[in-house]
Amino acid sequence: MAFAMAALAGLPWWGHPDMAEAWVPSSWWSLPVLAAAFALATAFPLYIQYRREAIAYSLSELPAAMALVFLGIGPAIGARVVGGLVALLLARRSSVHKSLFNAALFALEMTVSFRVFHLIMHDERGTGTRFFFAVVVSLFVAALVDTVLVSWAISRFEGGFAVRLRAELRSTVSVIVVSSIAAAVLAAFSLHQPLLAAFGLVPILAVWALLRRHGRATQQLRDFEALHRLSSSVSRSLHRDEIAQMAIVEIQDILRSDRATVVLFEESSGVAWVAASAGPPLDDLPTRLDDPRWHAFVAGAAPVLLEPAVMSGRGISLGAKGANAIVVPVRDDEQALGLLVVCDRNGPHARFESNDALRAGAMADRLAAALRNAELHEHIEDEAWRDRLTGLANRTAFERVLGEALQAEGTASTVAVLMLGIDRFREVNETLGYHVGDEILKETTKRLLQLVDDRHTLARVAGDEFALLVVDDAPDAVATMAERLLGIALDSFRLPDAELVIDVSIGAAESQHGVSGPAGLLRKADVAMRWAKEHHTGFEMYRVEIDQRTPERLSLLADLRAALEHCHLDVHFQPKIDLVNGVVVGAEALVRWEHPTRGFVPPVDFVPLAETTGLITELTDQVLGKVTSALRLLNDIGFRLDMSLNLSTLDLLDHDLVARVERYLDQHGVPADQLTLEITETALLEDGARALETAEALQAMGAHLSIDDFGTGFSSLSYLRMLPAAELKIDRSFVTNLLSETRDEVIVRSTIDLGHNLGLRVAAEGVEDGATLERLRELGCDLAQGYGISRPMPLSRFVAWLTTSGHEVARAGVDGAWKPLSRPLDVSSGPTVGPGPRAGKPPVV
Ligand code: C2E
Ligand code: CA
Ligand code: CA
Repeated sequence: MAFAMAALAGLPWWGHPDMAEAWVPSSWWSLPVLAAAFALATAFPLYIQYRREAIAYSLSELPAAMALVFLGIGPAIGARVVGGLVALLLARRSSVHKSLFNAALFALEMTVSFRVFHLIMHDERGTGTRFFFAVVVSLFVAALVDTVLVSWAISRFEGGFAVRLRAELRSTVSVIVVSSIAAAVLAAFSLHQPLLAAFGLVPILAVWALLRRHGRATQQLRDFEALHRLSSSVSRSLHRDEIAQMAIVEIQDILRSDRATVVLFEESSGVAWVAASAGPPLDDLPTRLDDPRWHAFVAGAAPVLLEPAVMSGRGISLGAKGANAIVVPVRDDEQALGLLVVCDRNGPHARFESNDALRAGAMADRLAAALRNAELHEHIEDEAWRDRLTGLANRTAFERVLGEALQAEGTASTVAVLMLGIDRFREVNETLGYHVGDEILKETTKRLLQLVDDRHTLARVAGDEFALLVVDDAPDAVATMAERLLGIALDSFRLPDAELVIDVSIGAAESQHGVSGPAGLLRKADVAMRWAKEHHTGFEMYRVEIDQRTPERLSLLADLRAALEHCHLDVHFQPKIDLVNGVVVGAEALVRWEHPTRGFVPPVDFVPLAETTGLITELTDQVLGKVTSALRLLNDIGFRLDMSLNLSTLDLLDHDLVARVERYLDQHGVPADQLTLEITETALLEDGARALETAEALQAMGAHLSIDDFGTGFSSLSYLRMLPAAELKIDRSFVTNLLSETRDEVIVRSTIDLGHNLGLRVAAEGVEDGATLERLRELGCDLAQGYGISRPMPLSRFVAWLTTSGHEVARAGVDGAWKPLSRPLDVSSGPTVGPGPRAGKPPVV
C-alpha cells in the first residue's frame, strides 16, 4: 500500500516531457466525459471467478485509450482517479483504505500506459498502424502491472503470491487482450470519424453486458452449490451439536471468515449454549434467548450486517479486527432456535458485503432445517422409551435397564424380574369395552407406583402385563415384593362407570449369573406368571419344570410344523391406498392360520413360536411363494400393485435371504420392484452390520424396504440414515387414536416430517375410519391401510374388491410400469415438506 501511495505522489511527471500535451488536442469537455466514463467502468465491473472469490474486472481500457489520445497525462490521471474514486466510494461502497489503494493503482496504471505509448511512438506523430499497436500494447502492459500489484497486495494477507498471480492471469488475460484491442479500435475510429466510434461502442457494450450476466449467473450457481453442500453435510447427522459443527465449517469456508459461532437456545429455559465454533472463541455472545442486547437480532427474520458503530452502540464487541460481522437468526417458522455469528472476514478487504449476509441467511435456513430434524429425532426417541397409556417405561426401556443391571450384577446382589398380569383382562376388555380396560391399567399403575421406589424399575411390557425389576441381596426380597404386589388387588377398582374386583397373578425369575439375558429373564418371569394364572396360585417362582414342556405349547408347535408341511397356511391381503388421490397402489400380505380345532390363530401367537424354533424360514418362504404368485396373477389381469411382505428378524440375518427372494421372483416372473419388504428395527439391534448388508443387497436387487412399526422400537434412528429404505410405516398404536389423543397427533406429525426429510414415503397403518384418513392426508402422509379401507382378505376376495370397491387401482402404464412413490429429498425447502397440492379425487371410504 505504502509503495503504491509513493508511486501516486512521485510518478505523474516521470518520463517524457511530451506526455504533458494531449496526442490530439480536443475540446474541454473530453475531460469530464472521460472522468464519467471511468466512473461507469469502475462502478459496473465484470466478475471473473477465481476459486471462491469473484475478481472484479472493469472495462477501464475503453476510456483509458481515449485519455491516451485526447488528454495530457495530468488530466488523464485526474479523470481516472476522480472517476474511479467516486465509483468505488459511492457505487461500490468500498472501504476508504481499499479505495485509496485503488486510486494509487489507477494513477500508476495511467502513467505506465502513457509511458509505454510514448516509448513506442517515439517521435512519430501518425495515427496509423504503429499508433494502433502502441495503444494496444500500452493498455495491455498497464493492465498486467495492475494484475501483478493486486495479486501482490492480496497475497500479503493470504499468501501464495505466485499461485494467485498465475490463476488471476489465467482467468483475466484473455479479457485484457480483447478489451485492449477493442479500446484501440475505438480510439482509432474516433480519430477518423467520431460517429463511427459511437457505433463501435454498441457491440462492445453488448458483449460486456452478456459477460456480466454470465458472471452473475455463475456466482449464483456457486452459491447454490455451496448451499447444497451444506445441506447434504448437515443432513448426515441427527445430533444438534454435530450438525452445528458441520455447518460452521462450511459457513466459515464459504464466507471466508476467521471466526464463526452457532449459539443454540434451550427450548424450555431459553438458556444459550455454544453448539459449535470455529476459530478463536468469541467472548461476547448472547447468554439467553431474551438477552436484551441481542434480542433484536434473535427475533428478527433476516441476517444483519453488524457495523462496528452499531456494535459499540449496543455494547457488543465482536471480532479482533474491529470490522463488521454478520449476525443471523437461526429460525424455524415461528421459533428462534439459535443465532449464527460470523466475523473477521479474512483477506485484504476485511469486511462482509451485503450479499455475504444474504448467503449467511440462506445457510442459516438450511441449518435450521437440519436442527429441526434433529429435534424431532430426539423427541421421537424419547417417546420410544415410554408406554403411552400409563407413562411407565415400555418393554424396550425395561430390557435396556435390565440389561444394564445384569451387567453390573455383583456377586452379592440378585437381579430379579417380577411379572404381574391381570387375570381375565381380555374378557373385561371385550365385555366392558376398551376404555374400561384402559382405566384398569391406569388404576393398576397408580397402585403399583405406591409400592415401589426409585430402586425399582416398573414397566408395562405388554397389554395387561407389568414388569418390576428388583435388585436386592435379601434372601426373601422377591417373595416379599410379590406379596405386596398381590395386595393391590385387595380393594375393588372404582372406575367412572363400574366397580370391579380384579385378580392379579405374579411370576418371578432370578438371574443365575449370566445364564440368560434380559429377554430370557423376562420370558422366564412370564412363564411363571402364566403358570400362576392357570393354576390360580397368585405367585409363582420360575422353575424348569413349568417351562417349555407345557403341553399346549408343544402341541401348537407340532400343529404349526404340520401346517407348514402341508402348506395349510394362507396369506391375506390388505389394500394400501395413495392418500393424495385414493388410488390403490398395493397391499400388505399377512399370514393366516386356520387351525382345524382351535380356529383362527392370530399371527402374534405363532409367528414368535416359528421364530424361536427355526420354522420361520419355511414360513417366510411359503408367504413369499404366495405373494409372488399373487403378483403374477394381478399383473396378468392388468393391475400393477406393490406387495408388502413382513420379514422376521431372523430372515434379515439370513445370508441366503436375497437368493431366496430372487428365486421366487424368477419363478413367477415378477419384477423385484413390485416387492416391499417390511422390517422392524429389532433386526438392526441384533446385528446391525449383517442386517444392513442384507438390506443393501435387497435394495440392489430392486426390492423396496419399509420400516415397520415405526415409533415403537429402539432408538435405531441412527441406522435409519444408513438403511436404504423407501418407506416408513407409522405404527398402528399412534394412528388409531390420532384424532382423540394430542400426543399421538404430535408423534404422527413428527414422524411424517422426519420421514419426508429423510426422503422416505410415509405410510400409516391401522386407519379405522374416514376422519382419521382425512387427517392423515392433511398431515401429508403418503399411504394408508387399515380396517377403515378394508380388512385383510383372501386373494380371491381381494381381486374382487379391487374392481368393486370404488377405488381406482394402479394399472400397468404404457411403459409397463407403475412408478412407486418415491420422494426425493427436497433441498430447497424447510423441514415441513409435505406433498404439494396435487390434483386427484379424494379417497372413498
Ligand atoms: P403388522 O406387520 O404390524 O401388521 C399389521 C397388523 O395390523 C395386522 O395384524 C393387521 O391385520 C392389523 N390391522 C390392519 N389394519 C388394522 C386396523 O385398522 N385396526 C387394527 N386394530 N388392526 C389392523 P395381524 O395380521 O394380526 O398381524 C400381526 C403381526 O404379525 C403383524 O404386524 C406382523 O408383525 C406379524 N405378521 C403377520 N404376517 C406375517 C408374515 O407373513 N411374516 C412375519 N414374519 N410376520 C407376520
Ligand atoms: Ca407389517
Ligand atoms: Ca405394523
